[in-house]
Amino acid sequence: MKKRDIKIFIDFDGTITLEDIGEAIFRKFGSEEKTNIIVNDLLSDKISSRQCWDDLCDSIDSVNKQELNDFIDSLDIDPTFIEFVKFCKDNEIKFFVLSDGFDYYIEKVFSKSRLTGIKYYSNKLFIDNSGSFSAEYPYYDADYPTSANCKRNHIINNSSDEDYTIYIGDGNSDKDAAQYCDFIFAKNDLLKYCSREKIGFYPFDNFSDVQNKIAELIKKKNLKKRHQAELKRKSAYLAE
Ligand SMILES: [Mg+2]
Repeated sequence: MKKRDIKIFIDFDGTITLEDIGEAIFRKFGSEEKTNIIVNDLLSDKISSRQCWDDLCDSIDSVNKQELNDFIDSLDIDPTFIEFVKFCKDNEIKFFVLSDGFDYYIEKVFSKSRLTGIKYYSNKLFIDNSGSFSAEYPYYDADYPTSANCKRNHIINNSSDEDYTIYIGDGNSDKDAAQYCDFIFAKNDLLKYCSREKIGFYPFDNFSDVQNKIAELIKKKNLKKRHQAELKRKSAYLAE
């Protein structure tokens, strides 16, 4: 496949970062028990992702901003992601980060690792002077409630029929979106979901695994797109 026809879509929490920062913030600064209940409701499809974030924001009384920033600073990304970004740039492969988390910590994490100019889409988190949280969801789509930031729409808007699309993710907010892509790299809950639903995927632990596999795919002459993903994209493009 031609490198310029590749579009990569990457989840943030638990995929680029070693742990889910969004969840970790609410566990640390809110209540562990409330967080568990709310997250379990999300994972059992009782509530939408948007509702989950709203409930979690409500579960926090007040946060000291400095403590919050220090906590975010203490969390790390997968170190192999840095090399992966370079690999994409060297090969002129376009990638987009699609996060169902928040701009507030994504910005901090990227700048700590000196990653500049990465295109990402996420929800927005605001912390007022009294230290309470509120969220906004600029890319919400009620038809796709598993992610408050509709990842599926970003894939449709940033790819075309000719592209080979690649999805890299680990969790609940990826399970609908990943199905629109030709190649899926999955770990944790997304891996379990793909196995259960018999959706083809490559397992991965870190971005070195992903990079090696993509380098292999690029060399192939006749690379097949995933038929189910093509059908899904086709009907989405027609509906636009
Ligand atoms: Mg994730």
